Amino acid sequence: MSFTKTSDKKAEGAAKTEPKVKKIKGAEKTLAFQVPKGMHDVLPADQPWWNRTRRAVEEMAATYNFLRIDTPILESAELFQRGIGEETDVVQKEMYMLKTKGGDVLALRPEGTAPLVRAYLQHGMSRLGQPLRLYYEGPFFRHERPQAGRYRQLTQAGFEIIGGPNDPIFDAQVILVFDRLLKYVKIGDVVLKINSIGCRICRPFYKRQLQTYYKRHEQKLCADCQRRLNANVLRLLDCKNENCKPFKEHAPNFLDKLCSACSQHFKGVLEYLDELGISYSLDNQLVRGLDYYNRTVFEMMVQQGPGAELGALLGGGRYDYLFEELGGRLTPAVGGAVGYERLIEAMKAQKVNLPAKNQKRVFVIYVGELAKRKALKLTEQLRSAGLAVTEAFGKESLRAQLKIADKEGFSLALILGQKEIYEESVILRDLRNSLQENISMSKMVDEIKKRLKEK
Ligand code: AMP
Repeated sequence: MSFTKTSDKKAEGAAKTEPKVKKIKGAEKTLAFQVPKGMHDVLPADQPWWNRTRRAVEEMAATYNFLRIDTPILESAELFQRGIGEETDVVQKEMYMLKTKGGDVLALRPEGTAPLVRAYLQHGMSRLGQPLRLYYEGPFFRHERPQAGRYRQLTQAGFEIIGGPNDPIFDAQVILVFDRLLKYVKIGDVVLKINSIGCRICRPFYKRQLQTYYKRHEQKLCADCQRRLNANVLRLLDCKNENCKPFKEHAPNFLDKLCSACSQHFKGVLEYLDELGISYSLDNQLVRGLDYYNRTVFEMMVQQGPGAELGALLGGGRYDYLFEELGGRLTPAVGGAVGYERLIEAMKAQKVNLPAKNQKRVFVIYVGELAKRKALKLTEQLRSAGLAVTEAFGKESLRAQLKIADKEGFSLALILGQKEIYEESVILRDLRNSLQENISMSKMVDEIKKRLKEK
């Protein structure tokens, strides 16, 4: 198998070149291998942040009755070309593609909605109760230029409401789930940006108006905008190039040009949001980077201060036509996806406190060879009783073991020496005040649990 990036066939030869030797800051010696550019290891120290994020997603799924679906990391490349759109950056520049020995052209999934729709159609899920609420999470891949909050392997969770009537209540409900998710992880000062990009009826008219408007300024636009002017004119509205900014400001506003059905739908979404007390900011330049959206599109980001530099934490919208595009029937659907990396960076930037672990933790210390032998079994006894036990079996001295228990923030230690073994007892030591007491082994578990509950 060989991997290629969509636009860069040169990458084909990359695997054959020698790995670059680079001195890593803080590493003991020069290393031949390091994590690929734009990808990252999640080290143990960061795992609590990831657990927090995964837990939050699972809580939301359980609270709002979303069912989990997992699809493969690899899909047919054509699924994304057809689904996301040939003219999008994701398909044109960012997809990792590979050719199998059997000649299939597959892609590392760059996003989760097209695979989800593929699975929905393939498994005849329209037969299930509609609308169907599905969620997914996992790694995605985009060959983007790495920068703060932008990686080549990213992790997303998506919440999608599929089927049933084309009702604005579902757009509001998806937004509600994400609003609640951000509140759950305690990210503050968030703004919801929302727009409508119409339907098959009103969009062509608007696009023509936009083209006419931009054609007048064609020579002054950046190269990307000039290229997209004919192919994908809506994307000119979210061009980040400074030179193009003034033109965006005076561009015709889609919200003034929506057909009456789209206008009604959008009004409905906003009314539901008002009802829920979710504030929003109308943003007529919000078009999103994937072609499958119609009507509602939204993003949430930190408005200002720490975390604002990360850009959108999440985004989504309605994609009623994607099912037809992939061979199914017109099926109303709306959803969105949140990026874990950005969510975690925003939590850190805003100095969110992770909830303290409510675990019953005890540190087991042994003194002497015989006690060491018994301690292994004792720790198992305690674990079977539901306690989280830590020990430092490699350290022989009492002082060294106490030091570790202290460093790791334990408040309770259990000490086992030769004398205790003969007496069938243990010493319970309160590490905060160094007071200790001899307890019979038969009462040990109850006593530990009692003391941990008091803390
Ligand atoms: P999208 O699939 O482009 O609508 O993105 C949804 C969310 O995924 C964004 O708001 C980000 O939080 C996250 N995301 C998208 N692309 C990247 C990336 N290259 N690196 C990290 N996170 C990303």
